[in-house]
Amino acid sequence: MSRQNITVLGSTGSIGVSTLDVIRSHPDRYRAFALCAHSQVDKLFEQCLEFRPAFAVLRDAPLAADLAARCRAAGLPTEIRHGLDALIELSAASEVDAVMAAIVGAAGLEPTLAAARAGKKVMLANKEVLVMAGELFMHAVRQHGARLLPVDSEHNAIFQSLPVDFDRGLAACGVSRILLTASGGPFRNTPLAELQGVTPEQACAHPNWVMGRKISVDSATMMNKGLEVIEARWIFDAPPAMIQVVVHPQSVVHSAVQYVDGSVLAQLGNPDMRTPIAYAMAWPERIDAGVAPLDLFAIGRLDFQAPDPVRFRCLQLAYDVLNEGGTAPAILNAANEIAVAAFLEQRLSFLGIAQLNEAVLDALPAVPESSLGDVLAMDADARRIAQQMITERRFA
Ligand code: NAD
Ligand code: MG
Repeated sequence: MSRQNITVLGSTGSIGVSTLDVIRSHPDRYRAFALCAHSQVDKLFEQCLEFRPAFAVLRDAPLAADLAARCRAAGLPTEIRHGLDALIELSAASEVDAVMAAIVGAAGLEPTLAAARAGKKVMLANKEVLVMAGELFMHAVRQHGARLLPVDSEHNAIFQSLPVDFDRGLAACGVSRILLTASGGPFRNTPLAELQGVTPEQACAHPNWVMGRKISVDSATMMNKGLEVIEARWIFDAPPAMIQVVVHPQSVVHSAVQYVDGSVLAQLGNPDMRTPIAYAMAWPERIDAGVAPLDLFAIGRLDFQAPDPVRFRCLQLAYDVLNEGGTAPAILNAANEIAVAAFLEQRLSFLGIAQLNEAVLDALPAVPESSLGDVLAMDADARRIAQQMITERRFA
């Protein structure tokens, strides 16, 4: 069996590091072909020393020059590149078998789209890609024969709980509902009056998962679940009304599919992203992911609740933009990226995130999603308006 060459977009992040952990355990199957990160030179250099990739990419030229000097001094074979063009090229290169899309946010859209257009196996963690340009991206996947494997734990669980030929239509497969589970995040039971004053550190302290800061804040507002509803709509071609969010604080049932005969199929496991990553990497086979076996006796009980629409306003905003369609989800995504960054910099309150998202949606009318250029222009407009509203201190 020949080894698969993998480009890891976002190799220094939470998903990237877990991906490299799976690659490390299976050197006979996988090779890190290109490792790509934003600006973490030290961490990327360490990864180059261990994995000896053919390419490594940083965003800006000066940092890339620094990395190149270090790699040369260490006698590594790695060629160093920088910028978006390099990400696009190394996602589509002929040597590449699979791309792990694990950049956070809109920055991952173009390279991930390039991988789809090159017909690669696309392992998708970067959900913002589907939120911004779901129709365009799924069209590229189908048109170029790419294989889309969801890495987001919920979508990976749904994928595992569906028949392999689900793309003939969920209704034709007897599916009546997708049950998308959510932990409820760190503020599930925090008194509403206290939410205004919560800090970034409190928001990033997720009860079950260790993740990057942006997705941690999204989990606290449940914007993450909203983005995942949109993600599920596109990956599984599911009508929004078929997708039901179920709060499940233990994060053991990673999601489920309900069928017309009364069956519910679910995937369970410890909350460790190496399980969905390894499943996407090895599909349709299974490999050891290095994850501890699930101990149901230690867990004891599984709880389920309906989400609270007042506490989690962002979840409803996601259903609203899905129903509106066009570029409305891209506007929400852009506003939310700016809102979360401002919250993390303590320039916006926690409750300000949902308020800002809603205000930007009200200020900017959506248009039909047609080209990548349209989506990127809308993304830029929404960011500008969101920044302006923060500067004007419209929200406490
Ligand atoms: P993270 O912040 O830990 O890592 C992000 C990575 O992207 C880093 O390597 C960073 O260097 C890179 N990056 C950011 N901007 C870049 C740019 N402009 N150019 C090149 N590289 C850039 O984030 P994460 O938690 O690993 O999440 C990554 C993606 O996966 C997000 O879209 C998130 O929603 C999704 N996801 C994460 C988890 C999780 O458990 N962490 C679970 C499901 C889905
Ligand atoms: Mg998820």
